[in-house]
Amino acid sequence: KEATADQKEKEITQNHPIAAIATPVGEGGISVIRVSGENAIATVNQSFEGTDLREQDSHTVHFGKIIDSDDKVVDEVLATLFHSPKSYTGEEIIEISCHGGVLVTQAVLEAMLDLDIKPAEPGEFTQRAFLNGKMELSQAEAVADLIHAKSKKALDSAHQQLEGRLGEHISEFRQQIIDATAMVELELDFVEEDVEFANKEELKELLVELDDEIDNLLATYETGRLVKHGIKTVFVGLPNAGKSTLLNTLVGKDRAIVTDIAGTTRDTIDVDWSYDGLRFILTDTAGLRDTDDVVEAEGVKRSQQAFEKADLAVYLKDLSRKLTTEEREDIAEIQKKAGDTPFVLIGTKHDIALDLDDERMDYDLKISALENEKIDELKKLLKQRALENTEYDSSSLLVTSSRHRDALQNAQENVQSAIQALDQGMTGDFLSIDLRSALKDLGTITGEITTEDILDSIFSRFCIGK
Ligand code: GDP
Repeated sequence: KEATADQKEKEITQNHPIAAIATPVGEGGISVIRVSGENAIATVNQSFEGTDLREQDSHTVHFGKIIDSDDKVVDEVLATLFHSPKSYTGEEIIEISCHGGVLVTQAVLEAMLDLDIKPAEPGEFTQRAFLNGKMELSQAEAVADLIHAKSKKALDSAHQQLEGRLGEHISEFRQQIIDATAMVELELDFVEEDVEFANKEELKELLVELDDEIDNLLATYETGRLVKHGIKTVFVGLPNAGKSTLLNTLVGKDRAIVTDIAGTTRDTIDVDWSYDGLRFILTDTAGLRDTDDVVEAEGVKRSQQAFEKADLAVYLKDLSRKLTTEEREDIAEIQKKAGDTPFVLIGTKHDIALDLDDERMDYDLKISALENEKIDELKKLLKQRALENTEYDSSSLLVTSSRHRDALQNAQENVQSAIQALDQGMTGDFLSIDLRSALKDLGTITGEITTEDILDSIFSRFCIGK
């Protein structure tokens, strides 16, 4: 079932009031309980002791007490009023700020639910905002991204999307397709009279340009993905190569266990490391070597899995030990396995390096984690190599969601198929079908076209109260 949401002319629907705690559960200065829906203010007013909230202006704050169904005072609160349509959801909203304790917050919520108010589903406020045309779908998704952002760049990118920059691009694409469709369908109207496309060249130009533009936007996805989800960086190397030590040096905490007994890093450990606004997820692996030890073998298996999912692979070679033929082969093998994944070869323990001329290895960098030697260079190198296959431009708009990428790809395929149809001299109705499909694909990004499945999967990612 398809629902359409025309943003500009959307009438605000006031749904049954819902309530949820909008702040994180825990002890804090204040907590906020948000209520949205038809007559939300009048409903809450029934258990509010203070001024008559029904007679107050929008965007005003009022002191009072919340009274439960037994007429007991639950808490002293501040109530903030938002009249429809000037609110987050477009509906009438009342936000109750109470003391920030787990029980008192819960009690205020209970008092709301004792009135004719339902508990909100995850993301239901934002879903109502979307359905009421307060934001398009990619903006609603950006709200979730904003909340979940784990790095400065991820936050920037969510902000851009929230401002509607992706939506603007999509609207432009849609307009171009609508123009193209109009050209095609004009011809269809006159098919009896044997009228050719008024301007086949012009139509083709328009479609080719659109194809290029979609391509440019799609090309940002690889960067977008890394920015949003973090750069999975796997450290590989023989036991004792200095993997844990380096990880600790980068992160600045003793998160990985450092020992000098070979094979102690049995499991993979993920550590978050922020650098230059980007988030790296560092995995210290048990190494990829074969082993008879059962526990260690499990570790090796996990290392391999981590390695396969990595965005960046870093091999650490201990410079204080002679390179064996076996390790040389290992490195070559790992490099081969890495395939398109950027691979960095680092020499470690440079402070106690053997003076070997015969190594003939092509190190990207030689470092000493203990002496803090070349660590800044290493950080720069990791960032540069992680992004080498992407068109990284921190200021440009990024596609960060696989849902958006898929929709763009589908739209592009349909545009390309229209170009092909045009080249093959197919009739306008063929072109028209392709163009209309492309239009639909793009519409799923901004929400002009949605299904309940899409909405469910998007809003279920939200926390309750958002
Ligand atoms: P892992 O098994 O690869 O995680 O290696 P560790 O980080 O546990 O390091 C093994 C040993 O090498 C420890 O005794 C570390 O102190 C030592 N080590 C690590 N990095 C350096 C370094 O840069 N210089 C020196 N001299 N020793 C290091």
